[in-house]
Amino acid sequence: MIGSFPEAYPDELLHSVYARYFVRSGYPAYTYALQDLFGSAKNSIEFTPRLTYQAAQVLKKVFKHNIETIIEEHTMFSYYARFISSESKVKALNYITEGNGKYVNILPLPAMGERYLRYCPLCAKEDREQYGETYWNRKHQIPGVPVCPKHGCQLENTNIHISGKTSPRLFVAEVEVPYDMPVIEKMEDNSIELARYIEKIVDLPMEYKPNDAIGTVLQRYLYPPYTATWSGRIEYKQICEGLQEYYKNDVDMPIISKEQVYKVFGDKKRNPLWICQIACFLKISPELIAFPQPHDETQQQILSEIVKILHKEHGMPYTKIAEGVCMSVEDIRSASKRNYMHKYRRKFSGKRGNLRRIDWEKYDIDRLDEVKRVSAEIYGNNGNRPHRVTLMGVEKTLGIPSGRLKRMPKCLSVIQSYSETQEEYWVREVLWCIKKLESDDTPLVWRRIRDTINIDKASFMKILPMLEENLSEEQVLVLTSGFKV
Ligand SMILES: [Zn+2]
Repeated sequence: MIGSFPEAYPDELLHSVYARYFVRSGYPAYTYALQDLFGSAKNSIEFTPRLTYQAAQVLKKVFKHNIETIIEEHTMFSYYARFISSESKVKALNYITEGNGKYVNILPLPAMGERYLRYCPLCAKEDREQYGETYWNRKHQIPGVPVCPKHGCQLENTNIHISGKTSPRLFVAEVEVPYDMPVIEKMEDNSIELARYIEKIVDLPMEYKPNDAIGTVLQRYLYPPYTATWSGRIEYKQICEGLQEYYKNDVDMPIISKEQVYKVFGDKKRNPLWICQIACFLKISPELIAFPQPHDETQQQILSEIVKILHKEHGMPYTKIAEGVCMSVEDIRSASKRNYMHKYRRKFSGKRGNLRRIDWEKYDIDRLDEVKRVSAEIYGNNGNRPHRVTLMGVEKTLGIPSGRLKRMPKCLSVIQSYSETQEEYWVREVLWCIKKLESDDTPLVWRRIRDTINIDKASFMKILPMLEENLSEEQVLVLTSGFKV
């Protein structure tokens, strides 16, 4: 019989919640608590054993989420699964939920070795002041990252092994974490920066959309000297040297090797630590690698963005930028955003010179067909996944500088003709998804819809009346019955 179940603390490992539940409910021994929670399922510290039916019901109620979301938010899943294919993500999540050990073959878990549950002495102190007890924080358990992202101090090992063969026990942080441990400050700021980078990555919601493999995504954001100027060839030597230099002070952290760099860029390995080391070093934002957008941005445009930041925001002269990236000043000049504007100027304004002299009426007419075509594409008229047609989206797709379409009434009215509410959009997305499942001969299941288009149950319920107009009674029944599982 499951008694009162504690609510999770921020970023608490599920294992830690189970352990606090055990303490709180006064079982005479671990085995009774384990029996109630997991039946005979095998224990797991980083993820979760399969829960008994009753335990799952209690958890869902306390966390106000389904089990999958709880796993995403309170286990190491959202770290290890972050960069694997969408298909593998769904598979691994299902396996964990079902208590099928096969997930270890899908997730890029570190090789077995001496790994222990860790804590930050300062976090523990703060937890005890704020909550009266401490707990296991999942961001202290990232293998290879020796610092606390919050305090920048060294994380401490306990003697509790993290491995597949953990003894069937619950480890209570409040018991295991000593009071008044000396705090070892870290001086090397790049490992702290990496720890914070990974913290952001872990905190981002999980996405299950099919995407380019991560090596391909990382390649897009390479810039000289890490890539040859226009051929786009990857300069592995420069990257590896850069990485070694960048993280050289962090003796406790394994730095990605040359072979591993090859494997990441070649889409052969998806070890999240290596990927984050590269991305953090290249200053690619966590959002860009967690939610890669399919886009056709060329190397040149990316370089122009970089030049813009260095020149406009940091006031660096072109000569200095050119020197830094081993390119000619002319190349830098041509890559700068200003040059794009020159092109627009010549093409669309009657006279050379000031941008304000653009012949807006002509510009509006010139671009109307393109705007119609792109809007229809974005809307999903070609059978592709539908998207909302927005001013920004159309501008971005057509490479029109931001804000211009607002001054082009004909184009603007095309875009406005596609305006819809969030609910209307969801309905279109769901219908598209159902059609796609049908054409793929995949059985209609609520979870597939949810995973494909990232819609939660509450939103789905909101649009159900609108959907019912478009679906058969049977389809509605199949979908809604999925909620009860
Ligand atoms: Zn801390």
